[in-house]
Amino acid sequence: MIRVPSTSQKGATYELRWVPDGGFWYCTCPAWRFQKGPVDRRQCKHMRMRGIGHKRPRAPTKPTKTRRPPFMLLGQWDGDAAQGWWLSEKMNGVRLWWDGTRFITRGGRVLTHVPTFFTKALPKGVAVDGELWGGRGGKRGSKGFRRALTAVHGSGVPAHWQQVQFVAFDLPMAAPYTQRYQQLVTLAKKHKFRVVPQHLVRSPRDVVQALQSIQERDGEGVVLRHPVLDTAYTKGRNKHVKKYKGRSPKK
Ligand SMILES: [Zn+2]
Repeated sequence: MIRVPSTSQKGATYELRWVPDGGFWYCTCPAWRFQKGPVDRRQCKHMRMRGIGHKRPRAPTKPTKTRRPPFMLLGQWDGDAAQGWWLSEKMNGVRLWWDGTRFITRGGRVLTHVPTFFTKALPKGVAVDGELWGGRGGKRGSKGFRRALTAVHGSGVPAHWQQVQFVAFDLPMAAPYTQRYQQLVTLAKKHKFRVVPQHLVRSPRDVVQALQSIQERDGEGVVLRHPVLDTAYTKGRNKHVKKYKGRSPKK
């Protein structure tokens, strides 16, 4: 049992209790008691404050779906000339589309359980393409990937969202990448969200060296973007945006 002070009534306390038979937490506060819906799905601010979720996910069994966002997809870098291209780290996380009010996955699932502290830095009414990232670690960032998955498929436990961040890399708009990137940086400075830094490739060796240094730190790989030929953000595969994770053992 956890005793929590009431925020509205001075001196009053509420109790958070785990109900083993039911497999859920309950709170003695009015907000929890008078809440509609099954007991194992209810939440209150005291639970959220303590990072308490439920045994069963809070997300409805039928996830909220919408149209799949028009994500731009990456081709493979095969070692061809990359001088003058933009290079950035490829973050191993979950790709998310911020549509100006909410996050949507590639499959079109709307994330309805994201805590507000996580979304408050994102621009209202502006679409942003990025990755939910949980850091490096593990084989090619697999630890960070798992953290991102936990947040996306979890029940909105704040602790899960404190372990991840949204790192933006593109703005869906009709302009060459360099321009989109500049606008993204300006937007990010104003709203204080994170942008994946871009570096200019000066020689062919730069790509291999960058990959090596990223993978030594348990990162996944690199992304290359043509500064001009990638003329606009478009849906689907774009041959002017490429990823490279080194040689993979293909059969
Ligand atoms: Zn409560």
